[in-house]
Formats: sequence, structure tokens, C-alpha cells
Amino acid sequence: MNRQGRPTAPAAASGEAASGTWTGNRALDLQESLLFEQGGWERTGVDLPEAELADDRLGGLARTAPIGLPGLSEPEAVRHYTRLSCKNYAIDMGLFPLGSCTMKHNPRLNEKVAAMPGFADIHPLQPVSTVQGALEVMDQLSRWLSVLTGMPGVALSPKAGAHGELCGLMVIRAALEARGDARKRVLVPESAHGTNPATAALCAYDVDPIPATPDGRVDVAAMREKLGPDVAAIMLTNPNTCGLFERDIVEIAEAVHAAGAFFYCDGANFNAIVGRVRPGDLGVDAMHINLHKTFSTPHGGGGPGAGPVVFSEALAPFIPPANVVRHGGGFALREDVPHAQVGRMTAFHGQMGMFVRALTYMLSHGGDGLRQVAEDAVLNANYVRESLKDVMTPSYPGPCMHEVLFDDRFLKDTGVSTLDFAKALIDEGFHPMTMYFPLVVHGAMLVEPTETESRASLDEFIGAMRALAVAAKNGETERFAAAPRFAPIGRLDETRAARQPVLTWQPPEPKQAAE
Ligand SMILES: *Cc1c(COP(=O)(O)O)cnc(C)c1O
Repeated sequence: MNRQGRPTAPAAASGEAASGTWTGNRALDLQESLLFEQGGWERTGVDLPEAELADDRLGGLARTAPIGLPGLSEPEAVRHYTRLSCKNYAIDMGLFPLGSCTMKHNPRLNEKVAAMPGFADIHPLQPVSTVQGALEVMDQLSRWLSVLTGMPGVALSPKAGAHGELCGLMVIRAALEARGDARKRVLVPESAHGTNPATAALCAYDVDPIPATPDGRVDVAAMREKLGPDVAAIMLTNPNTCGLFERDIVEIAEAVHAAGAFFYCDGANFNAIVGRVRPGDLGVDAMHINLHKTFSTPHGGGGPGAGPVVFSEALAPFIPPANVVRHGGGFALREDVPHAQVGRMTAFHGQMGMFVRALTYMLSHGGDGLRQVAEDAVLNANYVRESLKDVMTPSYPGPCMHEVLFDDRFLKDTGVSTLDFAKALIDEGFHPMTMYFPLVVHGAMLVEPTETESRASLDEFIGAMRALAVAAKNGETERFAAAPRFAPIGRLDETRAARQPVLTWQPPEPKQAAE
């Protein structure tokens, strides 16, 4: 029982037993119980006089039993949420090496501009004559995306990368159906992000995996063999999820087009090539762009995302509404859905706040600044790779793009697994790298430092990784088996948490409550 009346949790889960303090807190690292456990039902902040219902319009359905909400004062409620928020690790607290996620710094200028009343206080149902500035932002953002990718069509409304994939494949399906060419299969490399096969399956396509070569790239010969008149599209990530550039991408695009199929590129890794390579020049027909990765904007528990999709000439006529068009010296929204076109992807026009942040980021960097983003992101990843390659095992030879993939060969016979290693990194004060993805190597550890880390912060991270790799080799297994030792919560049964989540609070049994 701690001071707030929280029944003692299993010691392993709460860390309380180890704390040695009466409260269960460790200095300013506060244990936090549920709101319901802190504020009894009987306590309320305000006592209102009994309401006299002159006319019961609820037809006898008015609640008579207690409502069951915790009674808390404002400071108690504020403290609860503030304490919980302090338990979150965030990009504003430290390096976040989560590969494939591009956890970069979000410039505060973005926030300042997004909070301007002209952007923050408008409503999507306002007459378009009153939101011309917002439409201009959408138009400009579309132009930047179009110029950076070399692709003429832009659908802004999808709300995340996965939603953009859905939009892209629906458009491909619409274009194929418009030419009376129903196709059945979508080719997806083995190293693909899980959303790729999920999207293809959701669009009722059969997913056909393409194997990888030993050097971590698409096996072009195997892909050619799979191409045929029933293939609708290939979904490929470039740079791929092993952090490698697909060198044969032009050859792949040509083969895909010769088979009458479309080339969908997963653009989540655009940060590695923005300002240097235009995917349209490589033969890409559709590509989503995670604004929340390449163009900053908070994500990962920190805010919503946005996944606009860019399209080639062939697919541009099929993009979903609403689209901003220039009209009579101003801007209008085109909302009609011609036959064979995909309908709306969202209720309104997309994540306006993200559009403002992304455009702010683009304008403050400029074309040359964005190019430097890609160059520095690649440089930082290679710095990490070179600094760790003697103690860890990079999965592929040669330089990488914006993220470096290690596997668990360096942990062989140490008794330490990728999971243990990642948990020990938490003790060192870092969010773990991406683990066990991509699936093409054993015990994957995917590290993406991004361009926003300084040399000093990279060195600190590298120092921690080296120390752990050396400790594993020296047989310091307890350090790993017990990790994380210093986190408020230790190892959880993640499988059980996913399979049998406890989503509602149950009042304790009277007997227990009296303890
Ligand atoms: C992040 C990511 C996605 C999915 O994007 P969301 O915005 O999270 O929906 C798809 N593919 C790859 C390679 C990614 O890294």
C-alpha cells in the first residue's frame, strides 16, 4: 500500500520492493496509481444542491446509482497527468534511435506557426472564401512535395503512412479497373514493413513475397520470374528497411512497367534521399511521404501524423478528393468524384496542423537545406556504423544510408539476446533501437540517429552501445537478465498484455479494501 492507497502491486512489476522507501517513490521518480485508486467515489470537488427536476424529460432513464467517477481536486488531477507525462521518453528528452521511424527534432518554429490563430482556429466547414490562406498552404505544400519527388499528382488527405499506402493501392486498383484490367497479385519484398503486405491484403490482393539477395536487396531475377499479367503492383521501399539503396531500382521499374503493373514506393525512408533523388525519375508511380518522419512534426505518442501520396502522370487522374485547385485568382476545393476515381480518404481535408508544420520546415530549410538533411542523416548513420562495427555485427558490408542494421551474431554464445540488449539500453537512458525488424536478418537491431543529433550526443550513444557489447562479451549476463533495473517498470509480459489486456478498472473486493 503506498500513501495514495494503492494496493501493493507485484514487486517485480512496480519496483516498489526494491525502492526501499515508504512511498514506493524513488526520489523524484514518482509511483503513480490510477485516478480511481486515488480519488474515492464518495469524494467530489463540488457539492451541488440536490437538483429538483421539474420535468423529467429522460422518461425515467435518469441515473439514480452513483456515477462512479473518482473525486479529485484540480491539483490532484493535474498532478496525475503531469506525472504520467514525465514517464514518457520523448525526442525532446534524448536520442531516439528507433530505426525506420526517423525520430528527429521538431523545430519549435513549426509549433509557433501552427499555433497562429489563422491556422489553429479555423474549421473545415468554413466557407472557402474565408480560408484562402489555409488552402494556399495546402497548395504550396503540394508543390514542394511534387518538386521534391518529381511527381505531378498529390493527394494530401491520408493521415499516416499506412493510410497513404491504402490510398496509393486504391488508386492503382482504380486505374487498372478503368482500363478493364483486374489484376490479382502484389509483389512485396521480404524485408518490407508490415504495413505493405497488410495494405495489399486489405485491397483484396494476393501478397507474393520477393526474396532478398545476400547483400540485403531485392532479388531482381526472382522478381522478374514473379512478374506476369496478373501482377497489379510491386511495393518497394527505397532506401529499403535494411538501410540500403536499391541500386537496381530503375531496372525494377522498367520490368514492372513492361509487365503492365505499377510501381508503389514506400516513402517512409525519404529522409535519406530528400533533395538528392527524385523518386519520379526512378520510375515510381505512387509514393506516400510520412510528413511526420521526413519533415519533422511530432509523432510517436507526441502527435498525429500525415501521409500525403504523390502520383505519376499515369495515376494522377485517379487521386481522391478533396483537392486544392487554383480558381479565379484564389483557391477552391475540388470535391467531385468522377467515375472510376477513389472517394474521400478522410472526412475533411487531412491533418491541417501537420501541413503547416511540414511547410514551415520546408521553407525554413529551403531546397539546399533539405538536401543537407539527407546528407547529414546518412553521415550520422555511417558514423554510428563505423564506430560500432568492431564490437557489433553490421548485417551488410559497405556504407549504409540513413539507418544502420546490426544483427545478433556478436551476441552468439553470450546468453544475451537482442531483447536483453535493448532493455539494457533503457538502463543507460536511451530509448531502444528497433528490434527484430526487418525480419530478413536474425535478431535485428535497426539504428537511425537522424541528422539532428550532434557529434557529442552520437558519441554518448555509441559509448553506451560499446559498453553493452563489451559487457555481453565479458559474460556480464546478470546486467542483461535483470534489465531494465532502473526503469519504473521492469520486464512486462508483453504477449499477455497484448492478448489479455486489462482495460477497465474494477473496484477492489471489500475484503481486500479493508486490508
Ligand atoms: C513508418 C513506416 C510505415 C508506416 O507509416 P505510419 O505513418 O506509421 O503509418 C510504413 N513503412 C515504413 C518503412 C515505415 O518506416
